[in-house]
Formats: sequence, C-alpha cells, structure tokens
Amino acid sequence: MQRTLIIFKPDCLNQRHVGNVIDRFEQAGFTIVGCKLMRLTPALLREHYAHVADRPFYPNLEAFMSSRPVIVMGLEGDNVVQRVRDLLGPTDSRKAAKGTIRGDFGTDVTVNVVHASDSEANGQIELARFFKPEELFTAP
Ligand code: UDP
Ligand code: MG
Repeated sequence: MQRTLIIFKPDCLNQRHVGNVIDRFEQAGFTIVGCKLMRLTPALLREHYAHVADRPFYPNLEAFMSSRPVIVMGLEGDNVVQRVRDLLGPTDSRKAAKGTIRGDFGTDVTVNVVHASDSEANGQIELARFFKPEELFTAP
C-alpha cells in the first residue's frame, strides 16, 4: 500500500469542485487517511515548492497558493501515486485531456485544481510536511 499527499488548491475550493474531485478518488478505490483545512504560509510553500522556488513564476504561485485556506489530504491505495497523477493529467490544465481532473476543472499551468506527490518517496516526505503523525490514520 502506498500513500500520497493531495492539496485541493484555492481554485478547487473557490469553484466548489472539492466534492467532485473526492468522488473521483473514491470511485478509484482510494482511502482517505488524513484531511484538514489549512492556510499555507510562504515558508511552508517555499519548502514544498523548493524545486520551482527560483523560477520567475514562483511569486505568482505563492500568492495563488496562499490566497485562501486549502484542503490537504492523505490518500492510500495500491499504486496511488501514479494513479492519482494519471487522474489529474499534466501540469498545464490547457493541455490536459477532457475526463482528467485538470482537463475538466483547471484553468492554466498555475491554476490547476490539485497538487499530488510525484513519487512514493515524496509522498512520505510531503505527508510529514503537512500532517502531524497523530493526524494520519491507518486505513481500516
Ligand atoms: N507551475 C506554474 N508555472 C509553471 C510550472 C508550474 O505556475 O510553468 C506551478 C503549478 O501550480 C504546478 C506547481 O507549480 O502545479 C508545481 O510544479 P510541478 O512541475 O511540480 O507540477 P505538478 O507536479 O503540480 O504537475
Ligand atoms: Mg510536482
């Protein structure tokens, strides 16, 4: 069993797509092992997005991601990291196929509905970044 860190980005909450996205994750058979609303600070975002923090678009990304509280979620399932990435589609929503979460609900390359970990190792690191140990539960 594998785990991944999901962030429902501000556009997803603003446009009220949260239920729809969770439904897709549930239909795929994944189990929610952690879930909370939180406001992401610039310091936390800089750590989470360290791989893009020196890119020109970063200030815009930070402003977007801190524009309102977001939902962070831990999901567990067989091969969940890759299968969630497949459900999302590519980073740029305009290039994402219809039927994918970003293709159906996303706006552009920044405003793209959901974050999901890109490897099993990063799933573990990112879950520890956003959740205290006691906020994550064992799937029944
Ligand atoms: N991003 C952006 N402009 C870009 C590339 C990325 O604003 O040209 C943002 C976008 O919100 C993306 C996040 O930075 O989701 C992290 O980028 P990454 O390459 O890790 O994409 P992801 O793993 O989210 O598909
Ligand atoms: Mg990424």
